[in-house]
Amino acid sequence: MSKILFVNPGSTGHLNPTIALCKALVERGEEIVYYASDQYKDKFNHIDMEVRTLPTQPIIEAFTTFKPNNLYNVINGLLNTVDHIVPQILEEIQDEQYDYLIYDSMFGCGNIISQKLNIPTIASVTSFAHTKQTFDFLLNKFAEILSEDELKQADKNFNKLKEAVETKYDVRVPNRFEVMHNPGDLNLSYVMENFQINKELFDSDRYYFAGPSVKKPQPSEFVQNLDTSKPLIYISLGTVFNKNIGFFNKCIQALKDLNITVVTSVGEDKQLEDFDKIPNNFILKSYVPQMEVLEHTSLFITHAGMNSTNEAILSGVPMIAMPQSADQPVVAQQIENLNLGIQLNSEAVTPTDIKEAVKTMLDKQDEYKRNISKIIDNKQQQKPGFELAADRVIAFRDAHCKS
Ligand code: UDP
Repeated sequence: MSKILFVNPGSTGHLNPTIALCKALVERGEEIVYYASDQYKDKFNHIDMEVRTLPTQPIIEAFTTFKPNNLYNVINGLLNTVDHIVPQILEEIQDEQYDYLIYDSMFGCGNIISQKLNIPTIASVTSFAHTKQTFDFLLNKFAEILSEDELKQADKNFNKLKEAVETKYDVRVPNRFEVMHNPGDLNLSYVMENFQINKELFDSDRYYFAGPSVKKPQPSEFVQNLDTSKPLIYISLGTVFNKNIGFFNKCIQALKDLNITVVTSVGEDKQLEDFDKIPNNFILKSYVPQMEVLEHTSLFITHAGMNSTNEAILSGVPMIAMPQSADQPVVAQQIENLNLGIQLNSEAVTPTDIKEAVKTMLDKQDEYKRNISKIIDNKQQQKPGFELAADRVIAFRDAHCKS
């Protein structure tokens, strides 16, 4: 048995894949102390592990200080969260011993914590993996669309934050790639290898593509009561970037007269009065059991969040991707490149465009399903992603940790 320090103060999409992984690791005898954002502390109640919390609100405020509407500001925001994560963890664990560290590759300040602890590290990667080279290419692309002033300001902020963190914590902040991706000794991804962009760049010693870390869903009353005699369309913009009520209304206008059932997950903070009149073939919910709904879905209109995309691939469901923010445009592009679906711009698209796209996709769904089946590789057919991930973590522990 070894003791794992797990640091992951990220949002649902960063946390969810680690739940089944932690359960599988505890079943293999590992002891886990997990630092999660305080809003998610109950997500691990069913697992015999210790959960400690980090304060959500100050972390979000620090992260969003620089208006995270471009990659440079996102990186500055991440560096700005260090004071709300690192000192608390270092203080609380000062008299404890850990064998290895697992951290979210984006939100854990993993690079900084690992410099202080000097133990083997695993990055938990919930979106596309990057090398420094592919990431710098992306950064340069972003630089092209920013004004000179915006870039100068972003540079100034980065250098100031970098100096402050380096001085205060006696660590190195080598570059933006390390802040954004915190590469570990092992990088454990929940993306399927055949979906990863430039998969040939990632060597198998350091990168492992376990695939979606999700459990088979339990049957729910909600899904049992759905009318599945007609094609089921599922619409969701995920749990974070789901404020686009205009988009949901366009879907209502587009699909209200079709002989289909439409399940729409609209997010927690909305009332039915916020939307156009809800037609009989629509069911609006703040949250649905997505994995189970997908098992009955013919077509998924999605924001192309990485977890939702993974889950759709696993369930063999073609997608219309309507990216909203973050990594979603890149995920949507990959969905289109691999012919797993199409992408549309949720701002520019009209109800007529949506209606036509849905009809065409339903007609061609067998073709899309065939393409999707090619993404799922042999190992994912044999074991779920969280079991594969846990096996790889244990192999890493055996190779890197003193017994
Ligand atoms: N989800 C769900 N029900 C909903 C909406 C979302 O179960 O009604 C889950 C979904 O299955 C996925 C996660 O929430 O695991 C959303 O993650 P994703 O990366 O797709 O998007 P994010 O919410 O991080 O933007």
